[in-house]
This record gives sequence, C-alpha cells and structure tokens, in this order.
Amino acid sequence: MACPNIKLNNGVEIPLIGLGTWQSGPNEVASAVEYAVKEVGYRHIDCAWAYGNEKEVGEGIRRSGVPRSEIFITSKLWCTHHQRVEAAVDESLANLGTGYLDLYLMHWPIHLNPNGNDPKFPKRPDGTRDVLTDWKISDTWKQMEACVKKGKIRAIGVSNCSQKVLEEQLLPFVEMVPAVDQLEIHLYNPQHKLVEFLKSKGIVPQAYSPLGSTGSPLLGDETAAALAKKYELQPADILLGYLVSKDIVTLPKSVTPARIESNFKGTLAAVSKLTKGDIAQLDAVAAAGKQKRFITPPWGVDLGFDNWPQ
Ligand code: NDP
Repeated sequence: MACPNIKLNNGVEIPLIGLGTWQSGPNEVASAVEYAVKEVGYRHIDCAWAYGNEKEVGEGIRRSGVPRSEIFITSKLWCTHHQRVEAAVDESLANLGTGYLDLYLMHWPIHLNPNGNDPKFPKRPDGTRDVLTDWKISDTWKQMEACVKKGKIRAIGVSNCSQKVLEEQLLPFVEMVPAVDQLEIHLYNPQHKLVEFLKSKGIVPQAYSPLGSTGSPLLGDETAAALAKKYELQPADILLGYLVSKDIVTLPKSVTPARIESNFKGTLAAVSKLTKGDIAQLDAVAAAGKQKRFITPPWGVDLGFDNWPQ
C-alpha cells in the first residue's frame, strides 16, 4: 500500500507519513529506516543534525536498496549554526551520503551562541540559554534560500514557528515562502488556529510527536480507543489517521518493526474509515479539558520571548 503525497508550495511532492527518528538509540536507526523503507513502504524519513543520527539514516536508506530518488529526506539546521547555513547543509549531506536534501528546516527560530560553552546547548553563567537575541532569522532564511538555488536542497521550511514569528520575523522578508512548519500537533494539542493560518499561506503543517512522544501517552485516550474498537484498528492508527486525514504530514517515530509497520498500514486504513463525524469528535477532545503539550522546551521558558507556538 503506497502512502499518498501532497504538493508543497514549490511543486515538490512529500509523502503524508514520514518515519520520525528522534531519540532512537545508537544502532537502532539504521535498522529501523531499512525496515521501514524496504519492508513496509515508507518513502519519507525525518531526521536532524541535532539528533546525531544522520549517518545511520543514510546507512539505513542505502541498505534498503530503494533508489535515493524515491525517498524524501528531511534534515534540520541546528540553533548554533544560523551563521553558517551552507556549511551545516554540507555537513548533513556528507553525514547522509547524499547529494541533496528534499527538505531542510530551521529547527527552532532561535539562534544560540555558536561560540558558547557547548556546541549544541550553550548556556550563560546564570544557567539560561545563550541566545543571540539581536539575530534576525530572516538572515538565516536568506542563506537557506541560497542553498535551494545551488541545488543542495529541494524545499525549505521552518519548525516550531508560531503565527507571530512567521508574520513578524519571517514572511515579510522572504523570497521563498516556507514550504512547511513542523510543530507539536496531536490529539491533545491540535493547534487548529495555527494549522488554518499555515494552510491560508500555502505552508504545509507537519505533526511531530503525534503519539505524545516518549512512551506514546496518547494511546490511552478514551476517544481514540473507542474509535479504534469501532473500526478494529489500534489507537495509534486513529491518532495518526486523524492527522493524515487533515493533510497534515505526520511523523510517527518507532524503532520497533511491528509498530513501524502498523503505524504505516493502520494509519492508511484509519484514513479510509474515519468519517467527518469521527474527525469532529477528535477535534473536540483537546478543548474538552485535555489540552496538553509534551515537548514544550524547558529552554523556551527562560528566553523571555513571546514567540513560542501556542
Ligand atoms: P512520537 O509521538 O512519534 O512517539 C514515539 C514513541 O511512541 C516512542 O516511544 C515509540 O516507541 C512509541 N511508539 C511508536 N509507535 C507506537 C505504537 N504503534 N504503539 C505503541 N508505541 C508506539 O514521538 P516523537 O517525539 O519521536 O515525534 C516523532 C518525530 O517527530 C521525531 O522522531 C522527530 O523526527 C520529529 N520531532 C521533531 C521535533 C522538532 O522540534 N522539529 C521535536 C520532536 C520530534 P519505540 O520507538 O520504542 O517503538
């Protein structure tokens, strides 16, 4: 069963289901990617420099035997690399062993001090994140646009950007409108308003942590469980199918073969079964007292910025 694609605003097609790879232990990712691509039919892998797993992702893709041209690879620019985007892209390309990325995202709309006390999470002496508050993310974006023009990336996007950040700090200054905004979107944090805004601007929403992240806490939700029972599916299928039904690109992570398989096949089955009424029922869950984030970065709190996605 093939996963449907949708078109990004520059015509590039992206599969609606992608394999997430964050927090996969060493020596787990290559096998997970190989299995997902070779045995199940995934054609979209989401990784990031910051996950430290690009080499393994590349290895998994090569081991699958499926041609690179059939696979959609996303990686992300880390927060300490905003002043040297092309070098960061080149590093990701070398890690993955590929000549181009299908999608490259600004991981967070935050520039952390590249000369700070840690290459990934630099902190000031008082323990707060070492953010360069006078940096303009539109300057980062211009470098990302240049990499598209050089043929190193097919599409560029953002992650963790609120409507406010997009409207005030990015969209007025871009030549290329971001193709996607990758956000924490799931049953308990559906971000209806932001999703609607993104779609109005031609920006595809991508859902990370669609199962509630580590330990998949959303699997215990009663509404998802009831719909799973009704359709003889798993709760995960309902949670993922709910998002895919709305044309939200969805990125479930698993390193467990049976889950990698069911997250793909079960989701497509759920998409074919969920009715408008079911979707409306799921849409109402968060508002009925269940609104919750699982990934709110603790380092978002100490920035003093009013720009985190709501
Ligand atoms: P998910 O919501 O995808 O949940 C992953 C967890 O659910 C793992 O513990 C996994 O276990 C478990 N799981 C997966 N499928 C099933 C299943 N069918 N039944 C039971 N348990 C299951 O969380 P993530 O936070 O990883 O988000 C997904 C992806 O989104 C990331 O991997 C990453 O690629 C991206 N992301 C991007 C962020 C950003 O800032 N742009 C931030 C966070 C995530 P196991 O692996 O052991 O099977």
